[in-house]
Amino acid sequence: MFPYYGDIPELSSVLDSHRDCMYQAYKDVLGSLLIRPVEEADKILLDENSFHGSEFFERFGVNPTSRKNKFFTAFGEDSEWAGLNTDGSFSPFKTQVAPGFILTREGFDISREYYSGWVNPYLAPYIHEYNHFLIFALQEKPMMVAISILVSKIKPKSWPPKIGDIESLIGEYEGTREEKQLVALLTVWGMLIHGTYESFTRILDGRVMQRMGFDVPGEYFNIPPKQFLPLFMESIQTVIAVPVGDMLYGASIRERMRTLQDWVARMDPSNEVQSNFMECFREMEIEKVPMSALPLPEQGE
Ligand SMILES: [Zn+2]
Repeated sequence: MFPYYGDIPELSSVLDSHRDCMYQAYKDVLGSLLIRPVEEADKILLDENSFHGSEFFERFGVNPTSRKNKFFTAFGEDSEWAGLNTDGSFSPFKTQVAPGFILTREGFDISREYYSGWVNPYLAPYIHEYNHFLIFALQEKPMMVAISILVSKIKPKSWPPKIGDIESLIGEYEGTREEKQLVALLTVWGMLIHGTYESFTRILDGRVMQRMGFDVPGEYFNIPPKQFLPLFMESIQTVIAVPVGDMLYGASIRERMRTLQDWVARMDPSNEVQSNFMECFREMEIEKVPMSALPLPEQGE
C-alpha cells in the first residue's frame, strides 16, 4: 500500500520508513474488510504514470498554474458526454476514469508550516491525498466523477467556491434568471458532495495519524456540524442555502465509510434539480482504470 513513484526523494524515504506502521494504523482504523479492496485498487489503479513528474502525466495537461498538492481524476477521451442540462439532467454516459496525484515540492512548501512540530511535513499531505484516493477506490460511483460533471456546468474559477464568491459566480453565469437559479442549486449540491468528501477525508487523516502516534491537533476532529447558511443573491433575487460544516457530524468512522460508499443512495437531494442530477448519475457506467490506460490527448492540443 501507499505507493509513490514521483520525483521527491524526501517523500519516498518517509513513506519507506513509515509504511508498516501506516498499514497497521489503517487496518486498526478501517478494519481488514475495507483494507483489502484498497490494497487491490493500489495495484490495479496506481502506477508510475499516476504521479506528477511522469511525462505521461504531464501530457494530460493538468492545470500548471496550480501546484498545490491534490488528488484528481481524469476522464477517458472517448466518453460520450453531451453536457449537463440546466435542470440537472443529462444523458447517462459510459466512461473510464483514472486517479492521479499532484504532489509537488511547491505543494509541500505551502503546507510545511502547518505541520511543523508535530508530524513530518511530507507524510501528512500524502496521507490526505491518499485518503481521497482510498474513498474514490471504495466508491462504485465516485463522488469525484459527480463533482467533475457539476463543475463542467458551473465553470467556477476555482472549486469549491468560497461563500463570498458564489454571488459573482452565479451572476456571471450566462443565462436567464431562472437558469441562474437552477445553476445555483447545482452549485450547492456540488458543494454538499464536496464538503462531505473533504470533511471525512480530514477526519480519517486525523485518526490514522493519531494511531501512528502523532499528536494530532483537535481541529482535525472538531469540525462543526452541518448547517445551511442563508445567502441572499442580488443577481437572482433569491436566497440560497449554502452548506457548511460536517455533513455526518457525530458518526463513527465505520458509519461514515458506509455512508460514503453508498452515498448515491444515502445523500438526499432537497429539490428537483438535484434529484434529476442524481437520477441520471445513478445510471452511469463508470469504469476505474489507471492513468496509463486512458488514451493520451492528441499532441499539440
Ligand atoms: Zn482534500
